[in-house]
Amino acid sequence: MNVRDQIPKRRSTPTKNPTGKRWSEHKPDLKEDFNSCCGYCGSFDGFRHTYFEVDHFIPKSLFEKNGNIEYCQYDNLIYSCKFCNNKKGKLWPSQDENVPIINDEGFIDVCEAEYEKHLYRTSRGSIMWNTPLGKWMATKAFKFDERERSIIILWNLNELRKIIDALIIELNNYKEDADNYLVIRTNLGTYTIQYYIYHKELMAYYNG
Ligand SMILES: [Zn+2]
Repeated sequence: MNVRDQIPKRRSTPTKNPTGKRWSEHKPDLKEDFNSCCGYCGSFDGFRHTYFEVDHFIPKSLFEKNGNIEYCQYDNLIYSCKFCNNKKGKLWPSQDENVPIINDEGFIDVCEAEYEKHLYRTSRGSIMWNTPLGKWMATKAFKFDERERSIIILWNLNELRKIIDALIIELNNYKEDADNYLVIRTNLGTYTIQYYIYHKELMAYYNG
């Protein structure tokens, strides 16, 4: 499976045109373009465990020195959960903004389909790698291995959320005494219990 449900796609013309250090004004556009999910780990932004930030793909610390990239340059921005953003930090192995990858270390823009060639999602919901570069991103940069449990919980919660939403819509198509209504309601109950268990674990994780 892919790490993200959908490959994010940045719009060509953002709705805002901020200057200076006001890049956070792009956040609503990024949220939409990234389908409300972290570009790196694919976590959905609707759960309390994490909040979302605007990451600079080529780090600020690098382009501040040579001034070739603007803080608000939309094609350098990524909708990112705080964990991925913090772990990535100033990392940029080549130290050259024109060289994103050197010796199997570095980053692929998450809006490129190629990102999914280096990493994949297991059926349990964790994130693994296919290539040395994928391994570097997963273990040295984003620390998906250290964060495995929370990544699994967040992924499963979001999968269950989508199933439950779809079942509720379907349920409304039937009268309460219809056979289909009872079948759907039974399934809904099963998924809702799973959702509740994951959510409880997430809260324990959050508080712990
Ligand atoms: Zn993330």
